[in-house]
Amino acid sequence: MKTKKILITGGSGFLGSHLCRSLLQQGHEVICIDNLYTGRKENIADLIRNKRFTFILHDIEQPIDIIADEIYHLACPASPPHYQLDPVKTLTTNFIGSMNLLELAKKYKAKILFASTSEVYGDPLIHPQKESYYGNVNSIGPRACYDEGKRCAESLFFEYFRQHQVNIRVIRIFNTYGPGMALNDGRVVSNFILQALKGDDITVYGDGSQTRSFCFVDDLITGMISMMNHTDGFPGPVNLGNPAEVTVIDLAKKITNLIGKSAKITFLPIRQDDPSRRKPDITLAKDLLGWMPTVPLDEGLKKTIEYFRN
Ligand code: NAD
Ligand code: UDP
Repeated sequence: MKTKKILITGGSGFLGSHLCRSLLQQGHEVICIDNLYTGRKENIADLIRNKRFTFILHDIEQPIDIIADEIYHLACPASPPHYQLDPVKTLTTNFIGSMNLLELAKKYKAKILFASTSEVYGDPLIHPQKESYYGNVNSIGPRACYDEGKRCAESLFFEYFRQHQVNIRVIRIFNTYGPGMALNDGRVVSNFILQALKGDDITVYGDGSQTRSFCFVDDLITGMISMMNHTDGFPGPVNLGNPAEVTVIDLAKKITNLIGKSAKITFLPIRQDDPSRRKPDITLAKDLLGWMPTVPLDEGLKKTIEYFRN
C-alpha cells in the first residue's frame, strides 16, 4: 500500500485519536491538528514518539498551509454540554473551520472527509433514518449550533465538490462510544458508566423512552477509513452507525447489570429538542463499502467499563 500523508483535524479527541492510531498502524504519516478544546493530550500520549506522527496545536478557524494527500475533518465538540458551552464558536468552527480545510484540499488536490452527524436529521419523523431524509431540525433551538452548523458544513462540502471539483466524502456518524471518551464527556454512555462505578444515581433525562443506536468505536473507525478509500468517487452522504436500537432506560439497566452494582435512577427534565428516536438505515454503507458493525452493545460496553474502571 502507498504511504500517504494524512491530516486529521480534531485528532486528539475521542474518535480522532482512535483514527490517528489506526492510520499510523497502516504505515501512514499522520498530522494531528487540534486546539484541545475538548480533546486531550493523554489521548495521543502513546503516539507522540512515533516519527510518523506530528501534533500541531491549532484552531481551524485560522487558515493553515500543509501539504497532504488526505484530510479527515473531525474538529468540532460533539457532546451536547460541550457544543452548547460556546454555541457561536460551535457554528464558526463548522463554517469557517470547514471552509479553511476545503480551501486547503482545493489547493493541494487532497481528498477530504467530513465527520457529519445523525443530528442533521434532528428529531426525525422518518424511522429508521435514510440518507435521503432531509430531517426535522429546530433552527433556533439550543441544539441548532451543532445541527445547523453540521448541515451548513455539509452544504459547503457539496458546493466545493460541484463548483471546485474537490474530492469529498461525507459520513453521518450515529452515537459512537468506547474507550478514550473523556471522563467529563457528558454523553450518555460515559455518564451512566461513571455514575454506576461511583455508586451515584443514574441521571435519566425525561422518562427514558427515547432511543439511540450505539456503535462501538472500532467499527466506526473501520467504516470511516473505508469511506475515504473507496474508489468510485461517490461523495456521500453515507450513514455510519449500529442499527441496534435501545431505549435510554434499558441502556441504564444494561450498564448497571454489567457493572454488577445496584444503582438508583433519578429522572431529570428532558432536554429541549432531544430527539425521541434514532436508528440508522445502513443499506448504503453495506452496498457501497461492504461495511457493517460487528461489535454487539454488551461486548462494547464491557470494554468501555473496563477503560473507565482503570
Ligand atoms: P470530541 O469532542 O472528543 O473531539 C472533537 C475534537 O475536535 C477535540 O479534540 C477538540 O479539541 C477538537 N476541536 C474542536 N473545535 C476545534 C477547533 N476550532 N479547532 C481545532 N480543533 C477543534 O468528539 P468526538 O466524539 O471525537 O467527535 C469527533 C467528530 O465526529 C466531531 O466532528 C463530531 O461532530 C463527529 N461525530 C461524533 C459522534 C460520536 O458519537 N462520537 C457522532 C456524530 C458525529
Ligand atoms: N441522556 C440521559 N442522561 C444523561 C445523558 C444523556 O438520559 O446523563 C440521554 C439524552 O437525553 C439523550 C440520550 O441520552 O436522549 C443520548 O444523549 P447524548 O448526550 O449521549 O447524545 P445525543 O443526544 O447527542 O444523541
